[in-house]
Amino acid sequence: DRVAGFDPVAEHERRERVFSSAQERYYERPPQIERGWREWLVDTDGRAYLDMVNNVSGVGHGHPRLAEAVNRQLLTLNTNSRFLYRSLADFTERLLEHSPDPSLDTVLLVNSGTEAVDLAMRLAQLHTGRRDIMAMREAYHGWSMAADAVSTSAYDNPNALLNRPDWVHVTDVANTYRGKYRGADAGERYLEDFRAQLAELDASGVQLGGFICESILGNAGGVLLPEGYLDAVYREIRARGGVCIADEVQVGYGRLGDHFWGVQQQGVVPDVIAIAKAMGNAYPLGAVITRREIAESLAREGHFFSSAGGSPASAMAGLAVLDVMRDEGLQQNASEVGAYLIGEVERLARHQPMIGAVHGMGLYVGIELVRDRDTLEPAKEETARICERLLELGVIMQATSERQNVLKVKPPLCLDRESVDHFVAMLDRVLTEGW
Ligand code: PMP
Repeated sequence: DRVAGFDPVAEHERRERVFSSAQERYYERPPQIERGWREWLVDTDGRAYLDMVNNVSGVGHGHPRLAEAVNRQLLTLNTNSRFLYRSLADFTERLLEHSPDPSLDTVLLVNSGTEAVDLAMRLAQLHTGRRDIMAMREAYHGWSMAADAVSTSAYDNPNALLNRPDWVHVTDVANTYRGKYRGADAGERYLEDFRAQLAELDASGVQLGGFICESILGNAGGVLLPEGYLDAVYREIRARGGVCIADEVQVGYGRLGDHFWGVQQQGVVPDVIAIAKAMGNAYPLGAVITRREIAESLAREGHFFSSAGGSPASAMAGLAVLDVMRDEGLQQNASEVGAYLIGEVERLARHQPMIGAVHGMGLYVGIELVRDRDTLEPAKEETARICERLLELGVIMQATSERQNVLKVKPPLCLDRESVDHFVAMLDRVLTEGW
């Protein structure tokens, strides 16, 4: 039922009064969401929406086990992280059970993805004694000054490539769908360019402290890197003494279905992992996972302390998320339902020519919309209209990529087949209606 006394226009104006216009929000007139359950959101009018975008609520909305675990801890104790807490040790050990390699054995807990990325780069710089970091074009890594410096996405950061600090070096994005190189040998050609760029840096005396990227192109909507690409890149970086950082904030934590971590899809082991989002299911929790010797470089600088990073309550949230994922088989569900979803959208693509490609794997999927499958002209305006229309039909969907022409499909991992059918039917309907 409609929430009594709720006035959506007044609510909108109230928000506009207190928020900066830079604060991102979905839709011209976003619904006021009041509650959530599994992959569903409900607004103040009592309307339900299928949430196909939310990659923060990995175990779904309103999960009672998570609520109970955090509530119990809040009633018992929640304070800063300078004491010993059982929940902290329990959670850290459980997290390390998922470490992609025994060498990554040390955890630093923070509150967000931005903090994890920032700390990861600081570790790389301290460990190597070098300042320079290389990032990939079209990436988003967070909002702090350091994370923003390597956020090269022109969509998130219109001046991305103009105002980089001099310690940031940007390499091309190996997008084999619409990048500079496509086709079977694209990976090798991107690598040739990458090696040439490194040779230039070598010649000019630049010594890289680290390299950061997502192992699946998140901003591009889940485009997979060419096979073997990251392995070759990591080898080149390490040959120069640099540290390889994997931003797993979006692609990690079971979403890919077949892999817990994005890097596993590329068959590589990074030196530092930055993780957040799904880890706390929207409770503020992030982490860096690294080798002990790299983490120890922080000690040379002094202490590391984050007031709420790794609080007993956030540790309980993290533990409850891992328990739910295990007990409800959510990674497996991401694999099965994700494969079903990709298959259904590919089937749709046979009679909907605007679907140029279906990227990604598991429940990390991008549906790239083009005006022409040969020229790949991005269907940007159409994509925006499709998202608005899907909202009217009760499906939450948003655009991503530099060209804003990719539907980002990153639903809670508990998504079921019925919801997939509903999403595909609504997408079919909107594409058929036209605009
Ligand atoms: N890295 C990636 C790949 C992200 O998608 C995000 C958030 N969109 C971040 C880092 C920053 O995370 P947070 O919003 O938790 O600071």
